[in-house]
Amino acid sequence: MSEADEISELHRQLSILHHVDVGLVVLDRACHVKLWNGFMQNHSGISPATVRNRHLFTLFPELPREWLEEKLNSVFLLNNRAFTTWQQRPYLFRFDSYRPITSGAPYMYQNITFFPLTSLNGEVEHVCLMVYDATEMALDEQALQQANRELEKIGRTDGLTGLYNRGAWEELLSSEYKRCERSGGKTVLVMFDIDHFKRVNDSYGHQAGDEVIRAVAELMREVKREPDIAGRYGGEEFGVILADTDMAGALHFAERLRRAVESHTVQYGREVIRFTISLGLAEVRYTAGGYVAWLEQSDKALYRSKEEGRNRVSVAG
Ligand code: GH3
Ligand code: MG
Ligand code: MG
Repeated sequence: MSEADEISELHRQLSILHHVDVGLVVLDRACHVKLWNGFMQNHSGISPATVRNRHLFTLFPELPREWLEEKLNSVFLLNNRAFTTWQQRPYLFRFDSYRPITSGAPYMYQNITFFPLTSLNGEVEHVCLMVYDATEMALDEQALQQANRELEKIGRTDGLTGLYNRGAWEELLSSEYKRCERSGGKTVLVMFDIDHFKRVNDSYGHQAGDEVIRAVAELMREVKREPDIAGRYGGEEFGVILADTDMAGALHFAERLRRAVESHTVQYGREVIRFTISLGLAEVRYTAGGYVAWLEQSDKALYRSKEEGRNRVSVAG
């Protein structure tokens, strides 16, 4: 059978596939296009007559030639199928997406199957590329990943203040402890608690109390540096990890925060609420107790601040 006969036979066999919702491209060993179905025509705007017997890489110079030739060679050589998914390579042929602009898909994501077409003498003379539109799948997966990221973030965030919640913050504290242990880094842990907070709740109500908690978190955000890790440890207790900071720097931070809180007021209805905080600082120390012992040291310092009259900063001994 001549090559022309074989190709027309191929056409006959594949004619029913001309209208399927899958791209079909048949290439010979020299990468000349032998078949280009309706899907490919519709999406590329190029007719089968235009591409027929032309070299694929001349028609589409933007194709990843080295990669594609390697794929094709392995199919020709091994007589095996090959695949590529949109996760590995978003697309082979750059086609516009049919989805609305709002979907965020700038192009058609594609899964591609390469399979060998064996001629009557048993040789692989052609390779067929099947191009599947995977846009829907890709968008679904991307939306799922985004939702997961958001859920994870919600799971790590305290609803009232937007700071890390206790669980997430403690995990970060534990990592920071291990990091310091490895690198010998100096990090200071600051714990603080609002003074006489029960009085705020009792005098102005729980909602006013919440406003005060939010205000303290906001002041801390203003005073701290970008890399400092702030969390809401309990009701009106907070923790800040000052990475790579010596005690002098940490004391400077703590004093600034104490003064900022002291001079701040929360307006709640007609009431003007004033409040203060007590702080405890502890430099990281490597003990059998790990990060929990570190936490206890700064907590002890915090309670000394309370005992000594509140609205002050103490350093773990
Ligand atoms: P101290 O100066 O010794 O810290 O006195 P305090 O009154 O602040 O005592 P403590 O820290 O034990 O009080 C915590 C209070 O905080 C008790 C609890 O009712 C209140 N609280 C805990 N979580 C919240 C919250 O989310 N919102 C409000 N409004 N109050 C809270
Ligand atoms: Mg308190
Ligand atoms: Mg407390």
